Amino acid sequence: MVLKNSEKSDTQCSTRIENRESRIEKLDLSMPVQYLKGVGPARARTFAQLGVHTVGDLLEYFPRDWNFSPEPVKINQMRPGRTATIVGMVESTDYQSYRRQPIFEAIISDDTEVCRIIWFHGGFLRNQLKPGQVIMASGKVALYKHQLQMTNPKFLVLDERSSEPDEYFSGGVYPACSKLSSRQIKKIIGRVRDAVDELVPEFYDKGFLAKANLISRKDAFAWIHLPPDEKKLARAKRRLKYDELFLMQLGLALRRFQMQHFSTATPCRCSDEIDSRIRKRFPFLLTEDQNGAIAEIAADMAKPEPMNRLLQGDVGSGKTVVALYAALLAVANRTQVAIMAPTEILAAQHFLSIERYLKNSKVRRVLITGGLTGKKRVQLLDQIRRGAMDIVVGTVALLQKDIEFQKLGLVVIDEQHKFGVAQRAQLRKQTTPHCLVMTATPIPRTLAMTAFGDLDVSIIKHSPPGRGTVITRWVGRHNRQKAYQFIREHLRAKKQAYFVYPRITTLEESDDIKAATDEWKSLSTEVFPEFTVELLHGRMPSEKKQKIMSEFRRGKIDVLVSTVVVEVGVDVPNATIMVIEGADRFGLAQLHQLRGRIGRGEAKSYCLLFAETESEVAKGRLEIMTRSNDGFEIAEHDLRLRGPGELFSTRQHGLPDLKIANIVDDYELLVMARKNAFELVSQDPMLTRPEHKNIRQVLLAKFGDSLGLGDVA
Ligand code: ADP
Ligand code: MG
Repeated sequence: MVLKNSEKSDTQCSTRIENRESRIEKLDLSMPVQYLKGVGPARARTFAQLGVHTVGDLLEYFPRDWNFSPEPVKINQMRPGRTATIVGMVESTDYQSYRRQPIFEAIISDDTEVCRIIWFHGGFLRNQLKPGQVIMASGKVALYKHQLQMTNPKFLVLDERSSEPDEYFSGGVYPACSKLSSRQIKKIIGRVRDAVDELVPEFYDKGFLAKANLISRKDAFAWIHLPPDEKKLARAKRRLKYDELFLMQLGLALRRFQMQHFSTATPCRCSDEIDSRIRKRFPFLLTEDQNGAIAEIAADMAKPEPMNRLLQGDVGSGKTVVALYAALLAVANRTQVAIMAPTEILAAQHFLSIERYLKNSKVRRVLITGGLTGKKRVQLLDQIRRGAMDIVVGTVALLQKDIEFQKLGLVVIDEQHKFGVAQRAQLRKQTTPHCLVMTATPIPRTLAMTAFGDLDVSIIKHSPPGRGTVITRWVGRHNRQKAYQFIREHLRAKKQAYFVYPRITTLEESDDIKAATDEWKSLSTEVFPEFTVELLHGRMPSEKKQKIMSEFRRGKIDVLVSTVVVEVGVDVPNATIMVIEGADRFGLAQLHQLRGRIGRGEAKSYCLLFAETESEVAKGRLEIMTRSNDGFEIAEHDLRLRGPGELFSTRQHGLPDLKIANIVDDYELLVMARKNAFELVSQDPMLTRPEHKNIRQVLLAKFGDSLGLGDVA
């Protein structure tokens, strides 16, 4: 019995090994790297740390740099001062350990000439280089005592195993770690690379490839790891970047298609009567841009599929009015509206401006705050559930938590530019209302096509008339007192000012970053003792915050000292001064947002950036601020200043990571990929046609099931 058992397990074991052997011969993209020759469980774990789990990941583990070794030359063609690669026989070796810098020396010859190669501290080479061996060496050539010499070259002993010695010097340099060198990674990838023909399916037909000037997918993968020359490397990159962007856009296109075709929304129709009834609420004529946006929104909302629109416009350009139009349109169609803001202050602000427009209106509206608890809250939630409340305003957190609507027709999300595709998808899960996302951060065209790539976009370019200009100055240390005097004069003229700080309090180790709490004390007692100076920050109880905001609005407070809680949405036309302390610590978008708080009335406004900095990037930001008031221009500069790395985390936006493409540098490809992806989805929305099988498979592997493609396998 015992014997039999062990026999059995023996055979089991050997079949397993056999299986594994046969799997090594036949690689597939989903195979764990562990089963590759040269990778065991330990290396597989190291690979996992590098984000590489499967053979497919390995193929997409792109080099960070590439070497191109020059063609080997004859020794007599070596030129001093240049690099060269030679092949020759080791005539003799010598180790001079007595020197201050020990030298290992080899004399190499070919059929033309002899040369000397030395390696400083080359003692370890005594066991590697022996007379009679043929080696290939690549390095810089010098003339030493009238003799050609190479110093510290890379070299390789040529034997039957190194059939392609070129690969040793050229090819990819991989992002490595302490347990796995670039060279080891290269060797392992080399094995997978040999199988690209079977591993890498083509996505497109020949006609398209030719038209789009793209090489085949398998050539691209082969060349990216071991490019024959720089031109081919460039072509490989182009194809792989295109595919990456194309798959991302395809994901967005599919997501959008699903939104439009598999979820229904309540159509909200607009009649002339409804339109004029809504417009009567506004004490001014809407601008052309506002009307344009409204027309687009109304057309979307009239459809039985959910609107998915981004409303972009600089701070103060009049987005709230447009959103309110949409809200009233939804209410006129007997549905409810949720208006969500990122903070309580902003929610309250929205509610207030809505109140202003809706005076004496029958529209039932309410502001939900965190302070609302107990019986009152239960009652209110019940009203909302019964449909006895039309417009509910609150923070995203509050409204997403446990509020149930009877019939939610429209969701307006304000200032959600920090959120991306993933969060929006989350929101929609509960219901499928029409959705309007408002943002005051101008979104550069690249981001509009990626992070917001599943949305339609309406833009308000021009602000309503009657806005005073905003002058921006960068104030250094020596001008601080002068600036205070300037502000004082404006306060005396009954204008109001914001002072914004990067922090609430100073950190323990006293750094020199100014903090609101500390500076508030000195501003109120020393700098502006004759004025009312109040503090506002995010950690204060919300009632206190509301109270201070409301007093500031009513002009009871002259100077509002705060952190970035005033960043978005606050509307006090009489505030004409914005001081930003430690301005070098804020991002460009944030600075622009903050500046948007002023210049809301007719009077001239001033934005004073207090900053001392040596950082070139920070200086760049401050200079742009003083030069431009155009949000789009600033946003594009911002992207350029920050560079591609920090630019855009795809993960955070619920999109797959970009490994090789860059949405700024590869803008042309992005545009092409987007167009083609959206076209493809309109022709074959579920990618069921046989010619799309390969694309579909890769897409599923990348996005998982989130695109709903899984159920049509
Ligand atoms: P945003 O939400 O884009 O920051 P708001 O909608 O809050 O801008 O508008 C800013 C200010 O401009 C508000 O005080 C609003 O009353 C005013 N406003 C909006 N649209 C117009 C318009 N068409 N004409 C005149 N003033 C307007
Ligand atoms: Mg606003």
